[in-house]
Amino acid sequence: MEKIAVFPGSFDPITVGHVDLVNRALPLFDKVIVAVGVNTSKKYLFPLEQRLEWLRQVFQHEPAVDVDYFERLTADYCQKIGARYLLRGLRNASDFDYEKTISQLNNIIGDGLETIFLISQPGYSHISSTIVREIIKGGGDASPFLPENLIVKPPHLG
Ligand code: ADP
Repeated sequence: MEKIAVFPGSFDPITVGHVDLVNRALPLFDKVIVAVGVNTSKKYLFPLEQRLEWLRQVFQHEPAVDVDYFERLTADYCQKIGARYLLRGLRNASDFDYEKTISQLNNIIGDGLETIFLISQPGYSHISSTIVREIIKGGGDASPFLPENLIVKPPHLG
């Protein structure tokens, strides 16, 4: 059976931290699906289509990576596409506290769905989409935290 992992997130926007995680997970799975979770009550800086486009661009030369999005429960999405694993990153203790509960819940509602955690590399543990958004909103240069060749501008500048 194909080993499929779903890497769920907001990717608002994708950072080098996310890319590193996917690259490190690739030897562990046959396929990694980078899936944008759409939460209607959450406010995003970048529209879904834009986030998907960036993800497709970043992983275009990686046949073992697919890009997708889903609404509602992550566990239901995994079941729908036949994925038995979730991929998540841990940067610090607060990531752990949050992720622990979610992974236990997903294991129950996802009927044995397993979350595989990768600890972020030291050079990436300070990087988050939140920080990148703040830099972009403040008119700063976020390129050190973004995948190569990705041009990310504040949405109102187009
Ligand atoms: P969410 O809104 O679900 O937290 P994110 O896009 O912020 O979505 O993050 C998706 C996943 O990527 C999370 O598991 C997060 O811990 C992980 N992640 C984000 N940045 C990094 C990083 N710099 N190093 C390792 N993992 C990271």
